[in-house]
Amino acid sequence: MEVAVVGAGIVGACTAWALARQGVEVTLYERKQPMGETSRASSKLLHGGLRYLETGQFRLVGKALHARTDWLELAPHLCHRLEMLLPMYRDKGRSQLTISAGIRIYDVLAMGSGFPRARVLKPSEVLALQPGLSADGLVGAWAFFDAQMDDYALGNWVVEQFRQLGGELVTDFEVRDLAVLDGFDRIVNATGPWAMQLRETMPGKPSYTLDWVRGSHIVLDRVCPAAMLLEVPGSSRIFFVLPYKGRTLIGTTEVRQSGPNNPGPSEDEIRYLLDAHNHYLAPAAMRCDVVEAFAGVRPLLRSADNPSEATREWAFERTGNVLHIYGGKWTTAKLQGDEAANRILQ
Ligand SMILES: Cc1cc2nc3c(=O)[nH]c(=O)nc-3n(C[C@H](O)[C@H](O)[C@H](O)COP(=O)(O)OP(=O)(O)OC[C@H]3O[C@@H](n4cnc5c(N)ncnc54)[C@H](O)[C@@H]3O)c2cc1C
Repeated sequence: MEVAVVGAGIVGACTAWALARQGVEVTLYERKQPMGETSRASSKLLHGGLRYLETGQFRLVGKALHARTDWLELAPHLCHRLEMLLPMYRDKGRSQLTISAGIRIYDVLAMGSGFPRARVLKPSEVLALQPGLSADGLVGAWAFFDAQMDDYALGNWVVEQFRQLGGELVTDFEVRDLAVLDGFDRIVNATGPWAMQLRETMPGKPSYTLDWVRGSHIVLDRVCPAAMLLEVPGSSRIFFVLPYKGRTLIGTTEVRQSGPNNPGPSEDEIRYLLDAHNHYLAPAAMRCDVVEAFAGVRPLLRSADNPSEATREWAFERTGNVLHIYGGKWTTAKLQGDEAANRILQ
């Protein structure tokens, strides 16, 4: 059987790799270069996603917590465990009870993944780990583990595994219409944010709709002593302040778009992230301290009015010999690719 996979983001790469492991002849088509779009613009976290517990996504969080371990075992040179601090402030944001309940559930769902359990830190312990953090009203923090990756390098490592199994990668090749791949027995549409556009080249109404939600990050050229998850002041949104390659990575935003193309981060998003950072951390960062800013477009399954609450699950649609993949997240992309491979071979 010959299969064409369109899109060399992490989902297409994992699907192509899974098919190649099953002995299938696969050609992976990429419009630009592998990992050139959303898959290199992530928060670089291999995580369960603590905040998804609030929207009841227990099954997904459980799968993702265990998927972290798979990546750490597969490519320990490109990802590592990361301790995250979740500071708690008196009379601010979510209650200590809510946060503690979430952390406990996270721990239970992670059981068997090999990650250490979360622990509570006193204010003095938190400030020892993150001296720049505002101490005003600080009552302590939860410290729990997730993992961090180099998304671009890890994604390209997956592509390399695929190629070592004899898979063919064709870059700088845009599949404008699925009909051009007629010679293949089966086709996978793994074009992430662009999946709807390619789906529309086939007859019939798509079974799913995508929600395009841009997320931006900024990078400060300063060392970040501890990874943190914090609440955006005046909102229930969560943002990250992370150490990354000797610098500080801050993200992210959620801006709904009417299409898949990535316009890059707006000045408003950069300001929003700087304000959120400066609310908690000293010294304050100015616009001129931002050495890099980047954005990616999340291909989310449309499931909620508020993009923060939209599911990070994935879905498949089969039309003739084509399998379309919608949604998902980086951490669970290998599971998604394995499932896609099994479905396309059925
Ligand atoms: C700001 C942000 C932060 C995130 N943080 C995390 C995180 O920390 N952890 C996590 O688990 N997930 C995270 N995610 C989610 C994760 O990054 C995405 O779910 C994932 O990268 C999507 O991968 P993909 O392969 O579907 O899409 P993409 O990476 O966009 O890949 C699609 C590919 O298809 C190609 N393509 C499109 N059309 C065509 C065509 N017609 N012909 C040929 N090629 C085509 C594109 O060029 C692209 O390379 C984040 C997402 C965003 C936006």
